[in-house]
Amino acid sequence: MDIALALAWIRALAAAVERHRDELTALDTAIGDGDHGANLSRGFTAVTAALDAPDAPEPATVGAVLTRTGTILLSKVGGASGPLYGSAFRAMGATLDGPTATPAELADALAAGLAALRDLGGAVPGDKTVVDAWTPAVAAFRAAAPAGLAAAAAAAADAAERGAEDTVPLQARKGRASYLGPRSIGHRDPGAASTALIFRALADATHS
Ligand code: ADP
Ligand code: MG
Ligand code: MG
Repeated sequence: MDIALALAWIRALAAAVERHRDELTALDTAIGDGDHGANLSRGFTAVTAALDAPDAPEPATVGAVLTRTGTILLSKVGGASGPLYGSAFRAMGATLDGPTATPAELADALAAGLAALRDLGGAVPGDKTVVDAWTPAVAAFRAAAPAGLAAAAAAAADAAERGAEDTVPLQARKGRASYLGPRSIGHRDPGAASTALIFRALADATHS
């Protein structure tokens, strides 16, 4: 991955958030407070505006793109997802300090993002959160990394989508959905669904 591809990833993700905004809202209306689509839309609109600003500093490393993304998400997105995704992007950015990153280095960065999510939110796999999509995605990315970035990103996106789908039968044990108890069963977790967008955007950006 180079800096241009990191920027393309974030731009593809911002576009995906807009395309799926209503779907994320609907998922969060079922088991939360209905703001997940709006939260991420506000955040990624601010991210693209900052990246495209005429006076935006030229990023010197892959990590700078991701750190900047995380910082803006932290400042613009309230609720659970802003601090979670903000911290994950900043953690990824902190590990990528060169102008390019190998697939193995990106696997380490994605793992650092997952560690940040888990540290901040305290969720473990099976709690029906972002962690349920992010965990299999990191494992799939790492396993496929020797085959190259495109293969690893595609495998991670598929795994994240399966992980999000696999949250449907789970009862939420973290976040707002946990207040519903067994009534959270039967719905896809909105954060797991948006995590699948993060990995699909990486795969799409890698291909184009
Ligand atoms: P809020 O619930 O504050 O309105 P959002 O709707 O933007 O925030 O995000 C909700 C998503 O955040 C959930 O679907 C879940 O995936 C994720 N989430 C909430 N709490 C946690 C947590 N403690 N650990 C990991 N993820 C969490
Ligand atoms: Mg919400
Ligand atoms: Mg909210």
